[in-house]
Amino acid sequence: MTRVLRLVLMGPPGAGKGTQGELLAHRFGIPRYATGDILRASRRDGSELGRKAQSFMDAGELVPDEVILGLIGEALDTPEAQDGCLFDGFPRTVAQAEGLDTLLREAGRELDAVVNLAVSDAEIVRRLSSRRVCGDCGTVAPTGEGRRECPGCGGGLVTRPDDRPETVLRRLEVYREQTEPVLSWYRDSSTRVFDIPGTGGVARVQELILEAIAA
Ligand code: AMP
Repeated sequence: MTRVLRLVLMGPPGAGKGTQGELLAHRFGIPRYATGDILRASRRDGSELGRKAQSFMDAGELVPDEVILGLIGEALDTPEAQDGCLFDGFPRTVAQAEGLDTLLREAGRELDAVVNLAVSDAEIVRRLSSRRVCGDCGTVAPTGEGRRECPGCGGGLVTRPDDRPETVLRRLEVYREQTEPVLSWYRDSSTRVFDIPGTGGVARVQELILEAIAA
């Protein structure tokens, strides 16, 4: 199904944004811009962007707004982004939301909706402490299968450096301090915000998101 759709997917770390975002992007045939994934890929490539982001990411802090807005501006200029896109893990600060608003307005576009996946702190800590990702390609391994190798490329599974317990707690703090205000910012604007419980299984959460954005 192809439809022009511009969505922001928000929620604390470990809320399931990546999983739900991939399903939505596939369903609507739109590109998904996950800033965390883009930064991790840049680190693996050893690029300038990756080097700039490294120390912030490992400390659980946010990468500076101008770096993030630069990469989103480039993404929005590509031909693939002209018929809609999904932002996953962006915007994470009010300044980023304002920057996105300006970029979209200049291009005569607007967001259709913000989807907020809600998950409790206790559940986040539980999820992230057991999350394993591929050290080579970054794919998140399915949980509960006792796997040692990436189902995609066969690489070894590791704990993401920023999923260590002390960094997870900092990421949650950063989320409450800097990213939750973005939700209030959208609620005060004319953008629709849908709050979806991020628990209850991947298929059920996807169904709830689809129902909300179809309304
Ligand atoms: P994520 O995979 O979305 O949890 O992101 C991992 C890390 O990348 C975050 O803890 C931040 O250090 C950085 N990051 C990702 N997206 C952003 C963003 N929109 N703004 C600032 N930093 C970001």
